[in-house]
Formats: sequence, structure tokens, C-alpha cells
Amino acid sequence: MHVNKDRVVEVLGQLVSIPSVNPGFPGGTGEEAVADYVSRFFMRLGLERIEQELERGRRNVIGILPGPAGSGTLLLEAHMDTVQTEGMTIDPFGAAIRNGRLYGRGACDTKASLAAMLAAVETLVLRGIVPPVAVHLAAVVDEEIRYKGVSAIADEIKGGRLRYDAAIVGEPTQLDLIVAHKGCVRFHIDAEGEACHSSTPHLGANAIEGMMGAIAYLQREAELHYAPAAHPLVGPPTHCVSMIQGGVAPNTVPGSCRITIDRRTVPGEEPMEVWGQLKERVESLEPSVSGVRYVVREPFLIDYAMEVALDEPIVDCLRHSRDARAPGRRTIGATYGSDASKLVRVGVPAVVFGPGNLEQAHTKDEWVDLDEVATASDILLQTIMTFKKTPGPLNVS
Ligand SMILES: [Zn+2]
Repeated sequence: MHVNKDRVVEVLGQLVSIPSVNPGFPGGTGEEAVADYVSRFFMRLGLERIEQELERGRRNVIGILPGPAGSGTLLLEAHMDTVQTEGMTIDPFGAAIRNGRLYGRGACDTKASLAAMLAAVETLVLRGIVPPVAVHLAAVVDEEIRYKGVSAIADEIKGGRLRYDAAIVGEPTQLDLIVAHKGCVRFHIDAEGEACHSSTPHLGANAIEGMMGAIAYLQREAELHYAPAAHPLVGPPTHCVSMIQGGVAPNTVPGSCRITIDRRTVPGEEPMEVWGQLKERVESLEPSVSGVRYVVREPFLIDYAMEVALDEPIVDCLRHSRDARAPGRRTIGATYGSDASKLVRVGVPAVVFGPGNLEQAHTKDEWVDLDEVATASDILLQTIMTFKKTPGPLNVS
């Protein structure tokens, strides 16, 4: 059984032509119009829906494809929001097709996955097929900034109001199957010194120069501890000093300096524990400039790393469906994060899978390969039709 490729392409074109830039980005209009489209899509198919309004104009839409009585439930999840369109060299909402590619903001990340999921479910409904497992197809808001959409679903799962046996999270993986990925914790470190006239620097405490001690400490920490903590699928933890602010005038010794740390965690590391240890160590450091002290601020963002066992039925089933349609693709870990970790956190085995290459996501001429989108849709269809709740034999590729 195949999904009609023309139909997948048509749905993708329609999704891309509807702006859904996350309102947290410049010019962001939000996901409402895409949510309306998805809602009408399910309505036309006669499917029941759950609509979760999270903020004015921002809602998740979940379409429900029933299975036989007592069957399990599979969650297909994809985000509707995109990043900003500033600096793009193509019409972001033109959905132009050239050389087997569809161009536009979100084409790759991640409307291609959403289109593949919608077309797979539509194919089953139009053929009157009741799959062996119920399917919830969730189009969610706010993956690109704060994960509000998937977090609302995770809350429902935690509260026992929704129940899933497994989940597939759609992101551009080039049909690779992501079974583990990193998390992160982001926070500021302040160096607090003493400002004074720069002609008499010895009377002050230079916070910018003092910050060098904290940065050097983080480098030593990385050299000593990251490699031994490496995870077999996602590699070692990393950190990046991603921003720095300090100083008020050319002739003033800076009294404060702030750096932003983006620390990527591996499965098994808890973001708050990682942060807590760093806080303790950095704040008790001997500063590199006397009179400067270090203050490690509370994280402003945390996200969890995740991993699922290779013998989970969803891994086995999706891998078999994928290998039959797209041989040679891999089962791997990733360094980036996704909505999947929030589902794994509440006990749902979740994997990341979808058409498109992450290298084309967020770019000035974002595009996706249409053959790959159609193949992804076929693979999802096959997975829905063969998913069983019980584990299959362990077969690592
Ligand atoms: Zn994405």
C-alpha cells in the first residue's frame, strides 16, 4: 500500500504557503492558520479532534484515527511553527517546486513531516482501513522556542488523560531513525568587579579580565570530564560560551561582565545537576583578577536528553518499515534536541524520524526533496499497519 505522491506534495505545498513563524521570532504571526488547516483536514476526513488552546491563537490539534477495541495508541507528532523568514533569498511562502524539491520556510523543518503524517492517515481513512493500532496525529505549537505544544501533551499523559504506547516525532532526519539525542541547560555567569576610571585601573576590579578565569576553568573542565562521559550514540557533552556582554565606556574599568553558557547534556545527565555542580565549582574558584567574584545564575532554559532502547517495539517496527522502502539509512543518535525528550520523560518511547536534511532547515533557501517526503509517508503508513505493542527480537543495525 502506497500513499499517492502527488497528494503528499499537494498537502506540503498548502502547509508551506500558510505562514506559521513562531511569534517569539521577528515578524512571527504564530501557528493559528496552520492549526485551522489541520483541523479542517481532520474534519473533512470525519475524524474526531482534540484541540488544546494554550494561548490566544496558539493551539495543538490532535486528530484521532480509531483502532480496534482495546488496541494500543501510536502518537505521530510534528510541530507547526517555523523560524523567521528574514534574510531568505526565496519566497518563504511560495512553495515553488523545482528539480524535485519544494522550497519555502518550514518545507524541511518540519512541514514535510507533518504532510507525510497527514497524507498517511488520509490514505487509511479514504480506503476505509482500520489500522491495528489507534493513531493520534498531533500538530503542535512552539517547538522552535519553548516546547509549549509538546509540554501540554506531556502534561495530559502525566495526568493519565492521554495514553500512548509509542511516539514518532517528525523532524528532518533524512529518514534516519534517531533513538537518542542530547539535552541542554542554558544559563548566565556574571563576573562582578569594581568600576573606576581607566587611567587608574589598579583602583578597580576589571570584570571582563576577571571573566577569563571562569572561561578557562570551563575549558579545563571540558578537557578533563567530557570525553569520559561520552555516550555511545550522541558523543560527549559539550559547552559553548555563546554570548558575552560587559563594559560601559572606553575609559571605564568594567564593573560587570556576563557570559551565556549553552551546555549540552548526554543521556544520563540531569540538566539541573550539571548546572548545580558547575555553580558550586565556579563560585568557589579563586578569581583570575582580585576583587572579582563569580555568580552562576539560575538556568533560563533546560531541555532533557533522551534515549530509547533498541528493542522497543516502535524502534523495531519503524526500522523494518523504513529499511523496506529506503535501504541504507541509519539508526543513530543526534546532538540536537527535539520534542521526543519531553515524551520519553513521561514514559512514552519516542523516536525522531522524518524527511529532509537538517542542513536545509532554517536556511535562506530552505527546501526538501519530494521523493523523500513521499517515501517517509509510505514508511509511516507501513509502521501504523505493523506496529505491535510487544517487543520484537533485538536486531541492531
Ligand atoms: Zn523542527
